[in-house]
Amino acid sequence: MIKLKESVEKLEAYFVNDVAYRVKLDANEGSNYLLKDGFNIESFSPNLYPDSDSKKLREKMSAYYGCKTENIIVGNGSSEIINTVINAYCEKDDKVMTFVPSFSMYQTYCDLCSAKFVGIQSEKDFSQNIDKLISEANKQKPKVVILCTPNNPTGYVTKREDVVKLLDSVRNSLVILDEAYADFSESSVLDLINEYENLIVMRTMSKAFGLAGLRIGCLIANEKTVKYIWKVKIPYNINILTQYATEMALENSDRVRDYISNVKELREDLTNELEKLNFLIYPSGANFLFVKSPIDNLYEKLMERGALIRKFNYQEVYYRITVGTSEENMILLDEIKKLMGGIYEN
Ligand code: PMP
Repeated sequence: MIKLKESVEKLEAYFVNDVAYRVKLDANEGSNYLLKDGFNIESFSPNLYPDSDSKKLREKMSAYYGCKTENIIVGNGSSEIINTVINAYCEKDDKVMTFVPSFSMYQTYCDLCSAKFVGIQSEKDFSQNIDKLISEANKQKPKVVILCTPNNPTGYVTKREDVVKLLDSVRNSLVILDEAYADFSESSVLDLINEYENLIVMRTMSKAFGLAGLRIGCLIANEKTVKYIWKVKIPYNINILTQYATEMALENSDRVRDYISNVKELREDLTNELEKLNFLIYPSGANFLFVKSPIDNLYEKLMERGALIRKFNYQEVYYRITVGTSEENMILLDEIKKLMGGIYEN
């Protein structure tokens, strides 16, 4: 067998849990509300390549994000663009620095191009000390700094003044702000793309738009950087159906704000209910909660009962629970109460 390159051979393949479920609260997906009535395919030519530049789609996205079409490159989920950017900028042994724990795929993308992943430890309560990141960046001179805010899986939101401090202090690294969950918090630095030439913001439509299955995300940066990264964009990367469906979805983008405020209310309700059951909940600016459970092996026990959540082992065990619809959250809470025994059963 021909060997994979060394940095890749050691990787564990990413497989997703394939089990039957009643509620799926393990992947931070949103609800299907923008395309719930389906969509009519009028001008659809599957024999032709899609628009390689996704021009119409980018025009519609720019209206939502409040930038110019020229500030956007779209990808097959933000996953594709994060990988492309890391690979485009990093030579072997270049450093990519980020807080840990954070989104695990950053390390995989580094391994793909033999870049060195440098994780800066978060504090005990999973808050992030920006001065620590800045001081390490100034010492170790990474090619890329990634800041995920709100952070997956902890939900921690970096204060805007801290992001600005980072941007002011780390001028010689590319700074990627992964804002996959920013729709659910009040913080974004999209308005700073023209002030900082080294700033790239990543957004996705997999969460607040409920379009994870279409695979669509984007990079937003100043025009000069976008032009530069265009060199490595894979031609025709967004298929014809995704372009069409996302454009349709964006016709209803007025519904996005209502959906987001509903998720925020449900996040608060779920927090309160879980706190009553003695869970420890970390403050979250995302559509999920990061928790410590009073029940051992919660992940396994809930899976047996058809409720999927995520488990993380960081010396101690933590869980990440997507905020579902009120019905889904009710099923989850009922199952947890049953696990806790008679006192909570109605
Ligand atoms: N960034 C973060 C922080 C994420 O949690 C995810 C998905 N879980 C992504 C990027 C990628 O999202 P997608 O490829 O669906 O746009």
